[in-house]
Amino acid sequence: MNDGRSRLYIVASWALWPALFAAGLVGAGWAFHTHSPLLWFNVIYLSIVALIAALERLMPYELEWLKHDGETFNDIAHTLLTKGGVQIAAAVGASAPMAIATVVQPTFTPLTAVWPQHWPMVLQVVIGLVIAEFGLYVAHRAAHEILALWRFHALHHSVERLWVVNTGRFHVVDSLFKIGLSQIPLYLLGAPLPVFLWISAVTAFIGLLTHCNIDVRTGPLDWIFSTPRLHRWHHSKVLAEGNTNYGENLVLWDQIFGTYLNPARRPPVEIGISGRIAEGFLAQLVQPFSTRGIRQILGRREPQAAAPLNSSQADTSTELEACPDAPSAGRH
Ligand SMILES: [Zn+2]
Ligand SMILES: [Zn+2]
Repeated sequence: MNDGRSRLYIVASWALWPALFAAGLVGAGWAFHTHSPLLWFNVIYLSIVALIAALERLMPYELEWLKHDGETFNDIAHTLLTKGGVQIAAAVGASAPMAIATVVQPTFTPLTAVWPQHWPMVLQVVIGLVIAEFGLYVAHRAAHEILALWRFHALHHSVERLWVVNTGRFHVVDSLFKIGLSQIPLYLLGAPLPVFLWISAVTAFIGLLTHCNIDVRTGPLDWIFSTPRLHRWHHSKVLAEGNTNYGENLVLWDQIFGTYLNPARRPPVEIGISGRIAEGFLAQLVQPFSTRGIRQILGRREPQAAAPLNSSQADTSTELEACPDAPSAGRH
């Protein structure tokens, strides 16, 4: 369908997703061979962020999503806490993977021989991605279907616009849960460090692209990767649409377990949750830990303060919190 766009625009919209992803991977491959891999990886990462942010202005998918929502500082702070924290731990502790592997791997010695160390690195990374993706899928689906976990994941879904900057807006508990489930199986199987590095790179760049507000067209790529189109459905307010497309990099497990959604119509512009997320970074961090905070996140009403004794309504107006804890009640 040519809706009046120039040929250059159409070509760019098809080429941008693969081009940006490839540019990120090539840059990461180069960074991994320098003397300061972490530093140069971050330089590449921020350059791709800047490029995506510029392209969002040049060829936006949704004009509404260009408007400011007052959450930019919080989005960046949550990203830094999660991604920065993991990187600092890796840099300072000579790698958390090693520490965990030392403690846990001996218990699973027979399994460590399973990893195909001699296969080409590309194949090892593909296998690693599929295994890690299973943990990501389980963690993400659980975060939607179990209320005790949704209270942390709701922060990510509280965004009302999708753009590159809120890609990393995750509560730190949500992130740690996801990282744990996706990476520990790889440690136990004895995957080498380069596999972890490449999986981190793939996750970083696919992640940036899933939230991008660029008018990209991905066609058959939607069958393999978690693309912006699929992730826009995941942010739908409609429960049947939002509780789908859990894949972070690949959508293989969504297809196997029947949670893949990619209808021909346009994904919704109105996104968000029915509950309320606190204002301010620190308030957002502590909100899931208090009864009141959880009630706000779930969109339940506060129990009313005791009514005046002489009120004729006194005994009928305090029955509020009646919503049962039902699975899949994440977004009403
Ligand atoms: Zn989600
Ligand atoms: Zn998202």
